[in-house]
Amino acid sequence: MPFPRTSHDIPTPALLLDRIVLERNIIAMADKTARLGARLRPHVKTHKCLEVGRLQRRHGAAGITVSTIVEARDFADHGFDDITWAVPLPLSRLDEVVALARRVTLRVTVESVEAVEAVARVAKAAGIRMHAWLEVDCGYHRSGVDPVLPASAVLARRLAQSEQLTFDGLLTHAGHSYSAPDAAARARVAKQEREVTTAFAERLRADGVPVPAVSIGSTPSMAAMDSLAGVDEVRPGNYVFYDWMQSAAGVCAPGDVAVSVLTTVISHQDALPHAIVDAGALALSKDPGPGDAALRRGLGPVYAGLAGAALDPRVNISHVSQEHGFLEGPEAADVRGRFRVGDRVRVMPNHSCLTAAMFDEYWVVEDERVMDRWKIWRGR
Ligand code: PLP
Repeated sequence: MPFPRTSHDIPTPALLLDRIVLERNIIAMADKTARLGARLRPHVKTHKCLEVGRLQRRHGAAGITVSTIVEARDFADHGFDDITWAVPLPLSRLDEVVALARRVTLRVTVESVEAVEAVARVAKAAGIRMHAWLEVDCGYHRSGVDPVLPASAVLARRLAQSEQLTFDGLLTHAGHSYSAPDAAARARVAKQEREVTTAFAERLRADGVPVPAVSIGSTPSMAAMDSLAGVDEVRPGNYVFYDWMQSAAGVCAPGDVAVSVLTTVISHQDALPHAIVDAGALALSKDPGPGDAALRRGLGPVYAGLAGAALDPRVNISHVSQEHGFLEGPEAADVRGRFRVGDRVRVMPNHSCLTAAMFDEYWVVEDERVMDRWKIWRGR
């Protein structure tokens, strides 16, 4: 197949990445973080792409954050040598952790006595020191120690005093920023994320436990963050691409969304009120999108054209099966006569991190022109 010249020539379903929007997003977050006086350690789980990671590094990122040990290994194999694995350490992957920690600075995340003991044990057996963050629950209530419980301070002291572990500090993620209904609520979550974690760090330091660093960050809370006092680094991920969830909530403008799914109409029967496109659950994912049901647009809104940020006000991908997407609006007339088999349609993903993980590559575009093709390292 000759290399496609425009998005009219790309085989579908395909994931388009707008290079200009991507770079703008990367620079904006780098600038904000630098202005607020912290380091940026972006979460690469959103893009799983070496070229995007290198762009982040070129614009000042100090280290990366990953969500799987395979992601850590893939990036380590390509020159990324300071990696935080920001998931409570799965004890089933300890051998791989030790092997990788011999080659690069790998910082694991722990929040249980079991994990602290296990990682200290394997580090001792391997004759190495392992870096470890203590995860703190700042209000999301997914994982992490409760900073007000005495047992949490005991665990921090144990990490700090361990002979096998280098205690990196406190790490938190305000995932509840995604359910904040507006900018004022996001600002409250951002303040809580920072204050809960820095206050715990200060209490530990006052009790003689050295806390080398505080690491926080999510895309919605970073959008609302106006101070990073007491914070050393931030780890947003989704901001490189954004998506309908962020755009509908007002975290970004529709024009800041850098990825879209390119799909083709494959069926449109006169008697039926929908058209079918070749982007189903294995292209878009089944993420329902915004937490506020009033902002949902099925499994993703549809763009008005193959380039640009304008959305078609009438039609969405209403639902999906594995490889089929239902394109429809409230009225049959929203589709009838407007879409024909062979037409190309672009969909804004509800949740770009999940959508990107469905594809093997990005088609890097500028408007409708295809510039490049970048691999997505999605092995598990
Ligand atoms: N840190 C941790 C621990 C996370 O789980 C995530 C995302 O899930 C992030 C950072 C990045 O958050 P976001 O994608 O909202 O920027």
